[in-house]
Amino acid sequence: MASPANSKIPTRALLAGARRKQPRLIAFTRQLVSSESPSDVKSAVDACLALAAIGARGLGGRVKIHRSVAADSLGNALEARFGPRTSASKPILLLGHLDTVWPLGTLQSMPCKVSGGRLWGPGTLDMKAGVAMAFTAIELLAETGSLKREIILLLTGDEEVGSHAGRPIVESLAKKCSAVYVLEPAQGLAYKTARKGIGSWRIDVAGIAAHAGVDFEKGANAIRELARVVEKVSSWTDLKRGLTVSVGVAGGGTKSNVVPAQAWAEVDVRIARRADGLRIERKFAALQSQDPRCRLTITGGINRPPMERSRGTVRLLRQAQALAGELGFDLDEASTGGGSDGNFTAALGIPTLDGMGAVGEGAHARHESVLVEHLAPRTALLAAMLVG
Ligand SMILES: [Zn+2]
Repeated sequence: MASPANSKIPTRALLAGARRKQPRLIAFTRQLVSSESPSDVKSAVDACLALAAIGARGLGGRVKIHRSVAADSLGNALEARFGPRTSASKPILLLGHLDTVWPLGTLQSMPCKVSGGRLWGPGTLDMKAGVAMAFTAIELLAETGSLKREIILLLTGDEEVGSHAGRPIVESLAKKCSAVYVLEPAQGLAYKTARKGIGSWRIDVAGIAAHAGVDFEKGANAIRELARVVEKVSSWTDLKRGLTVSVGVAGGGTKSNVVPAQAWAEVDVRIARRADGLRIERKFAALQSQDPRCRLTITGGINRPPMERSRGTVRLLRQAQALAGELGFDLDEASTGGGSDGNFTAALGIPTLDGMGAVGEGAHARHESVLVEHLAPRTALLAAMLVG
């Protein structure tokens, strides 16, 4: 049921407006997709960001480019502020990213096109359509006279590679805001209220090389030691707690007749509970080799804290569900093992609702696409959530 406060929100007008603007929304998404922006090509990410900056200025946004200082190889971030600065209410942060996982030239084999009710192409779903939805939502608010509080749109350029440059900007802006809406794709049709935290580690084992036939006893087999460590860290997985430890890549040795002096592995860790982060970090730090002649070097840590399903997030979800009802559709919630920049803002205690971008399939996959039919209703919902 819609609350009385919600009934002041012109949901019907927003939906009609979003439908009218859909062709432009799609055109802007295509423009962003045509400007390929892999996280590891800074000039490409910055060029896409510049397109978004033009769009933001066109809507009357107060634009600021945050030059990436954490590493020159990472893309800049765009901050654009809309609406009046008021002391009555804190701003809302609309959070997205413009980098993608797709290398330059992907458009040749995965062209950006509309067919079969879908908008196809690299970075459509994750998340250039979501970014275009945010622009359209802001435009709708301005046109209906509903832009009464300040909205901060932040688009980062390195989310897909861990947000090393974006994180401090995301966190400092989020602290000034009452809520964070993340423009990542929906999970199926659902908004996301919880995400796992993510950690990564590297394990290096140094053993002693020796001839496997002549001097076997003089060798200390780094691969065997690594195998023990792999078995041990894998045993920390606790599915009931939402804790997984997965060794994803490993290597070592030189020739089969040489006792290997080197071996290594890379480990992906996911945590559902914040407390598990410290626990796992301690366990990695305490790892010791069983063969005293082997030496372990362990590096890594938790990079993204989990986004736990907080009361503030549930409050936002209920508000969104009421508004979705007025717009004529049901809205579910979901949790995911994947991370986003929403993990950082939720960990700061700022109510964060994620998955508010496009609906579709195939993020990071060849069939990446957005379902066109959901663009207008979801954009209207996003706009309705920004009123007030
Ligand atoms: Zn994304």
